[in-house]
Amino acid sequence: MSGPARLGSWWTAADGAELDVLLYELVRGVSEHRERCARCAEGFPPCPHVRRAIEAVLEWRAARALLSRAEWLRAERHRLEAVA
Ligand SMILES: [Zn+2]
Repeated sequence: MSGPARLGSWWTAADGAELDVLLYELVRGVSEHRERCARCAEGFPPCPHVRRAIEAVLEWRAARALLSRAEWLRAERHRLEAVA
């Protein structure tokens, strides 16, 4: 999966691959959890445990996007300095 366009050109294939792993684990974990959770078995919205797991993935994605953006900007500056 490639990153959504809004994540910018700094979102790398490695970032996308790591997000794929996290999403796979999230979906797998939630599937197992739903069998044991009365609230999640009712449907939507999920219980606080599942919401927290989803938030953790979203927080990871936001932090990784910022980190990759900083790395991309640093590399871009080096490219520009090499040309000048
Ligand atoms: Zn639950």
